[in-house]
Amino acid sequence: MSTTPHQFDAIILGGGIAGLWLLSLLRNQGYEAILLEKHGLGSGQTFASQGMIHGGIKYSLAGAMTGASESIADMPSRWRSCLKGTDSVNLEGVAVLSEAYYMFSDARLSSKLTAFFGSKAIEGRVSSVPSADYPEIFQSPSFGGLLYKLKDLVLDTRSLVTHLRNQLKDYIFEGNVKFEHTNGQVTQLHLDGGLTVSADTYVLAAGKGNGDLIHDLELKVPMQLRPLHQVVVRGDSLPDLFAHAVTLRSTDKPRVTFTTHITGNTKAWYLGGQLAESGVARNETEQIEFAKKELANLMPWIDFSDCEFSTFRIDRAEAGGETLLRPDTPYVRRHGNVIVCWPTKLTLAPMMGDMFMALMTEPKTNAARPLNLPQAGVGSSPWE
Ligand SMILES: Cc1cc2nc3c(=O)[nH]c(=O)nc-3n(C[C@H](O)[C@H](O)[C@H](O)COP(=O)(O)OP(=O)(O)OC[C@H]3O[C@@H](n4cnc5c(N)ncnc54)[C@H](O)[C@@H]3O)c2cc1C
Repeated sequence: MSTTPHQFDAIILGGGIAGLWLLSLLRNQGYEAILLEKHGLGSGQTFASQGMIHGGIKYSLAGAMTGASESIADMPSRWRSCLKGTDSVNLEGVAVLSEAYYMFSDARLSSKLTAFFGSKAIEGRVSSVPSADYPEIFQSPSFGGLLYKLKDLVLDTRSLVTHLRNQLKDYIFEGNVKFEHTNGQVTQLHLDGGLTVSADTYVLAAGKGNGDLIHDLELKVPMQLRPLHQVVVRGDSLPDLFAHAVTLRSTDKPRVTFTTHITGNTKAWYLGGQLAESGVARNETEQIEFAKKELANLMPWIDFSDCEFSTFRIDRAEAGGETLLRPDTPYVRRHGNVIVCWPTKLTLAPMMGDMFMALMTEPKTNAARPLNLPQAGVGSSPWE
């Protein structure tokens, strides 16, 4: 066996949306790049995510447009271009769960909601839905609230990860690495099994796993974890629901965020938003009881008695400090020959990709030697 390390332009650690997106960009632009994944592709936050590709309207519920809502306004159209195969990452064929996303309120809040949606700041990004066009779930005479449609879409994250994995499988490997480094510069990576690899640039795109990698490399990069307690409701007869339930009274966040998925032979509603944030303080039984009350309040015309409820906990991993405030943009910074990335949101992957490519120098490696490593497979989601 050769003892000289296999040399690449870039080695990416982590195969969630961040790592896969960057690998696609790098390979498309002629870089000899590979990705090493420790568990299963997508198995971190990417499969736990609700798959919403949104333009940030939910962050402007408090009234003013915030940095967060401004920076992501373009993202749904960028993703739509990718889905058509006309942007830098080709996602033609990835399954879209919903081409539309809604926001609804109960009747009591309508006047405040009307004023909010009528405001100049969000003009053109939201439209009110005439009752004749209501999706099935809101056609009940018991629904007395207002319904708005956003220019957002919902992707099937399994389809997204599988698609990128199939496109790039020759460059994606299972691997757990140990760094060799001096003075903050990585010199090479040792893989389980004795293989050694090295690169001009090492990319940390391991989500929560970046914490350990940053620590091993003694980099001064702050990471924050924001815990969530998500709820899954399974039931064969659940109607499709892709919507935020909003209350403008007391919070700037959606009260509950709903997406609908197929798991096995069953339909499932996946519930996040404020419910998942406040739910961190509740145990599983309390969280399920709380979710049942929210559902009874928001849609009293639906019978959930045959549905099966479950919960799981997951952390959002982001750049941050002690405040646990949500960052507005991706984090992409070069520290010597290491680039640390957190997309902050699935939605922001195209922006993260632009920021990343701006930090890369020209490719140098000609035809890297093939690696004799097992290819990484697609992982499982925390709620399947
Ligand atoms: C409950 C929830 C719902 C969300 N919903 C949305 C949404 O609807 N829309 C949206 O825009 N965003 C959403 N997000 C945010 C979004 O999911 C994340 O910002 C995004 O998925 C992060 O991607 P990532 O690739 O950085 O991390 P991850 O998806 O966590 O991937 C990291 C990968 O690195 C691997 N790894 C870890 N350590 C190592 C190592 N040492 N070596 C190699 N590999 C390693 C892991 O196994 C994993 O596969 C949500 C997040 C959560 C938690």
